[in-house]
Amino acid sequence: MNELLNKLVENNKNLTIDGKVAKYIPALGKADPNELGICVADIEGNIYTAGDYNKKFTIQSISKTISLMLAIIDNGIEYVFDRVGMEPTGDAFNSIIKLEIVSPSRPLNPMINAGAIAVSSMIKGNSTDEKFKRLLNFFRKISGNENLGINEEVYLSEKETGDRNRSMAYFMREAGIFTGNVDEILDVYFKQCSIEVDCIDIAKIGLFLANGGRLPSTREQIAGENIARIVKTFMVTCGMYNASGEFAINVGIPAKSGVGGGIMASVPHRMGIGAYGPALDDKGNSIGGCGILKDLSRNFNLSIF
Ligand code: GLU
Repeated sequence: MNELLNKLVENNKNLTIDGKVAKYIPALGKADPNELGICVADIEGNIYTAGDYNKKFTIQSISKTISLMLAIIDNGIEYVFDRVGMEPTGDAFNSIIKLEIVSPSRPLNPMINAGAIAVSSMIKGNSTDEKFKRLLNFFRKISGNENLGINEEVYLSEKETGDRNRSMAYFMREAGIFTGNVDEILDVYFKQCSIEVDCIDIAKIGLFLANGGRLPSTREQIAGENIARIVKTFMVTCGMYNASGEFAINVGIPAKSGVGGGIMASVPHRMGIGAYGPALDDKGNSIGGCGILKDLSRNFNLSIF
């Protein structure tokens, strides 16, 4: 398996030439566009890796799957989906347009920025610090990595430049999606996006979802099976930005990508996959990561459809 993964990394490396690293968060612009890595963590406990699998990157939008699980655990399904919808948008992840033109005014799903900011506002805790600590501990438990923490430079870089997210948050507060201090709510969101991971960490998160919200090592049920099902369904319908339909057809695996270059994928009952390549295509997905996932899916017949 490691040999095959090495081959897939080699075969897809040339794709990275056509991608671009995200620059709208200035600190992300420092990433090396040639990097490409992969990890497969299967249900039997095997870990297979290739390429730049141990390079650290920020989790960015992949974090939206995890904050959604904790928000549902904290508040229940009804509370969360009274405030955030379940439909794909067809717009960019940071688009503001539907907030105003769709009635009632609420974000269309928890995988776009507006929806994820609303979800982060629902994490329970007496202070911003406590809310983020609870979320970070949840990340650590699911990934099995006690050392997860934030990349301070990326966090501060987004905090300083994230005016579009800030404007969406003000808009949503005015529309009654949440109450409270916008900067504090955004702080939890910016911090969760800045959590540093490698391919193994996100493969394990994918495996946790593949295993129905149970830790594969101890079989401890951390999130209900229904919550894991909801998250995987969002990954299919909106996980790969506005290329989710194309990805479902070409790859057929529930997946969530982030502008840091990561893709976390989950093959139900079989495996979690973590891919990393910071060169992104024009939709914001790792161009090399998508290539590897497509090949992997064909090789092992992983499409769920
Ligand atoms: N922190 C990023 C933002 O809010 C996450 C975007 C992403 O990975 O899609 O813009």
